[in-house]
Amino acid sequence: METKKKIGHWVGGKATPGTSDRFGPVYNPATGEQSAAVALASADDVSGVVATAAAAAKEWSASSLSARAAALFRLRELVDRSADELAALVTAEHGKVLSDAAGEVARGLENIEFACGIPHLLKGAHSTEVSGGVDVHTVHQSLGVVAGITPFNFPVMVPMWMLANAIACGNSFILKPSEKDPSPSLLLAELVHAAGFPDGVFNVVQGDREAVEALLAHPDVAAISFVGSTPTARHIYETGTKNGKRVQALGGAKNHMVVLPDADIGAAADAAISAGYGSAGERCMAISVVVAVGAVADPLVSAIADRIPDVIVGPGTDPASQMGPLVTAEHRDRVRSYVDGSEEEGANLVVDGRGEWPSGFFLGCSLLDHVRPGMKVYDDEVFGPVLSVVRVETYDEAVALVNANPYGNGVAVFTRDGGVARLFGLEVTAGMVGVNVPIPVPVGFHSFGGWKSSLFGDSAMYGPEGIRFYTRPKVLTTRWPDPATSVVDLGFPQTR
Ligand code: NAD
Repeated sequence: METKKKIGHWVGGKATPGTSDRFGPVYNPATGEQSAAVALASADDVSGVVATAAAAAKEWSASSLSARAAALFRLRELVDRSADELAALVTAEHGKVLSDAAGEVARGLENIEFACGIPHLLKGAHSTEVSGGVDVHTVHQSLGVVAGITPFNFPVMVPMWMLANAIACGNSFILKPSEKDPSPSLLLAELVHAAGFPDGVFNVVQGDREAVEALLAHPDVAAISFVGSTPTARHIYETGTKNGKRVQALGGAKNHMVVLPDADIGAAADAAISAGYGSAGERCMAISVVVAVGAVADPLVSAIADRIPDVIVGPGTDPASQMGPLVTAEHRDRVRSYVDGSEEEGANLVVDGRGEWPSGFFLGCSLLDHVRPGMKVYDDEVFGPVLSVVRVETYDEAVALVNANPYGNGVAVFTRDGGVARLFGLEVTAGMVGVNVPIPVPVGFHSFGGWKSSLFGDSAMYGPEGIRFYTRPKVLTTRWPDPATSVVDLGFPQTR
């Protein structure tokens, strides 16, 4: 493949082209032109990076907590100062508008800020005199080499969900970014290097399935964090755990926004537009289904439809644009196919976003009414600017609909009734619930994770759960007896 720019790996504190002769195309989604070719690592490339990371982990795991915190504070400053540059790289390869890309950098920073508290976060518990002269304390030790495999839709934020806690806990981290938008990972690597982390503590291996399989099979990779689609998440979880690794695998989503009859129609319509079409619907927390309860349906559908013509679709680099293109032509065509088939399935196409654009992977906002379970557009994760409205008569029907869905990432309820909102929060089967908040992504000092087919494994990502995921607890029971009192005792140790 002949292109101007080749994107390689970052191993042991420096950029490297790797040994593989396989490359994948990287596009500018706003023009549709190929901008670069990314190296697709071989199993040998992966072995090399694991060896480098394993060597670095030995020393790094013994580093002082205050040295780690100091490096994290420096990294926080460097990422903040480079926010515009990071955002520009995201827009160039993902396509989202610059303000949205800047938002993802800012949310990613929360994870570094959380990890700056690592001396406190790794504090163990201590019990004195649990038995005669015996003390007990717990420590949280690093795992060694841990890997993160990330999706195309947040090429800065999702790596930061993982890397900040992973290295703060004393591990070495290998990032395998999406091959669709690989460049931000290399700038992140430069910043980690500039912050003073030892070489080999943070590495980037570019690649596709071959690199992922090599990481899953490698005996020196202790844990895998994955974020991506559900079929891949399931595969990563099953293969990784079979190979004895600790795995957290976050999958796809179908997020519902329930609008109750007492909700403010204008505010609910604003939220549906923002959360449904923001980032062209390519967010795992995007609202995909509006559940209109009772008489709210007609005015709500009208209010959403009225707002759609005001959404400015254009290149992410244009400050006037509110919604950019989709990531690839293939993905654009897949999303479009759901709109193509929707009327045949019985939905009402209220707003048709299928326009023709002279270049780039664009689609406008589509709105479908009278959507029902069993239709492909409802059953599948569309991951594009297509909002479906499902009409139900009662609150109970709305909850039953959400709870019957195989995904359980985010969900929102719009209402002015605190009692009903509270009940909804308790009985809905999703991991993250918003009350009049359409995209309830938890802040960096809580943890992020869905239920059902949106998360495989026992641990959510970042925040306190991230610290637990990247460490192993150990309990030390200690006694300093006077040798003169030592006796042989074959009984099981007792504490009373
Ligand atoms: P994807 O599953 O296609 O790819 C994710 C990663 O897995 C990439 O690094 C890719 O190279 C690798 N990969 C892809 N296919 C593979 C295979 N067969 N075997 C091994 N590795 C493979 O996902 P995507 O299209 O990049 O991202 C969009 C998906 O991610 C959506 O489903 C979205 O909901 C999900 N997502 C979920 C969350 C969450 O927190 N739950 C967050 C962001 C995105």
